Amino acid sequence: MATYQDGCTFCKIIKSESPAEKIYEDDDLICIKDISPASDHHYLIISKNHIANAKELKAEDEPLYDKIVDTVEVIAAQQGLDLASTRTGFHWPPFTTISHLHLHVIYPVENMSYLKRQMFRVNSFWFVSTDYVKFRFKTLSSS
Ligand SMILES: [Zn+2]
Ligand SMILES: [Zn+2]
Repeated sequence: MATYQDGCTFCKIIKSESPAEKIYEDDDLICIKDISPASDHHYLIISKNHIANAKELKAEDEPLYDKIVDTVEVIAAQQGLDLASTRTGFHWPPFTTISHLHLHVIYPVENMSYLKRQMFRVNSFWFVSTDYVKFRFKTLSSS
């Protein structure tokens, strides 16, 4: 069973208490359309468990994390995205707009405005790549 947090926007969507355009769902996660898309396609892959953000991931969350990242390919195949022009990443605290773990999937990068490119600039202080988060697990398990 997923753990929810009262008042959380994404928990409400997962519980179907708030509307969203869901394009994919399985036991551990959902994928919805972002309400303010940064390009022609903009999806959020969201863990069903309420985890505040990518920085809060614990060593035991690594299988879930891998599944979130693997789901990018599922969404790309379903929606016809070319991965070479797809931007993915996580907002990094304190620059997270909604405090519930979500991976941004944006396509095509070429159609993003200058402002959106800044908002979703990979490995800036505010937006990090999936590889960056994956690498962090190494430091978690060794401590
Ligand atoms: Zn939540
Ligand atoms: Zn975000």
